[in-house]
Amino acid sequence: MKIRFWGVRGSLPTPGPETARYGGNTTCLQVVRDDGPIIILDSGTGIRALGDHLLSTGKPPFDIRLLITHTHWDHIHGFPFFSPMYIPGGRVEVYGVGPLREGKGFESVMRDQVTYSYFPFENTMLDNVVQYRDYNKMFPDGVERSFELCPGVKVRLKLTNHPVYCTAYRIEADGKSFVFSGDHEPWLSANPAAENPDTIALYAMMNDRFTEFCRGADLVVMDTTYTQAEYESTAKPQASKRGWGHSYFEYNIPLARKAGVKRMVFTHHDPTRTDAALDRLMQEKYLPLGQAEAPGVEFLAAREGMILDL
Ligand SMILES: [Zn+2]
Ligand SMILES: [Zn+2]
Repeated sequence: MKIRFWGVRGSLPTPGPETARYGGNTTCLQVVRDDGPIIILDSGTGIRALGDHLLSTGKPPFDIRLLITHTHWDHIHGFPFFSPMYIPGGRVEVYGVGPLREGKGFESVMRDQVTYSYFPFENTMLDNVVQYRDYNKMFPDGVERSFELCPGVKVRLKLTNHPVYCTAYRIEADGKSFVFSGDHEPWLSANPAAENPDTIALYAMMNDRFTEFCRGADLVVMDTTYTQAEYESTAKPQASKRGWGHSYFEYNIPLARKAGVKRMVFTHHDPTRTDAALDRLMQEKYLPLGQAEAPGVEFLAAREGMILDL
């Protein structure tokens, strides 16, 4: 199993010379295997180049499983531009969990992007190819469970702490394990001294569960949008990033050690983070911190085009 990174930017695309090396496309990962269907995680703008790559290197029609973490724009707004779904005879199964807000389910949010209001195409024209699988309907007793995505590929789901329903994925195949956090903020209190002790205990338990979800993985690709200073900042006018649903380097590095993972990749780079700034953070701060706090774990920053062999 290999993981190929097609989009590593958080929140919105960031084209331009200052982000060209790590890449400006939003989240999209591919699980590359020797056989079976094509497996893709999230459909940020990175999925456009992936679709074009499939068309230029593979033989259509394609059999595709697209696993969505959540329906925030940066994880779905490349979807209408995924060219393989316009090829008759193909099959694109789109999995995800609905926002459960405003009465909208997963399928309607995905479909709404491909309507004439936003796009020169109507979703009903794709109905012979694209099928939607809503975890809430597949698993009415709770989505935190495992299922077989296709022969030889086991998928486990974990709800994360995010302003909308979001699932982390653990994919086990070919004797290897890979975790993608999706968007995830640690459960933390802004003011532990004033917090109810039961709440503190509950947060600790929720964080432990996420750590267990990552246990022993060969690779964890982790939402690392912020530094701790950015996360906790009280500077005006932007103030703190608490509650925005994202994690930070100083939290994720000890998590990698506690979970005993082999490799952790920081992704969902903040849109304001230039290549030079990210290089500086990694070289001067977070690679040394990783060596000190989680010896034996390999840390790296996600880069568009990167392929990791598990
Ligand atoms: Zn995001
Ligand atoms: Zn999000």
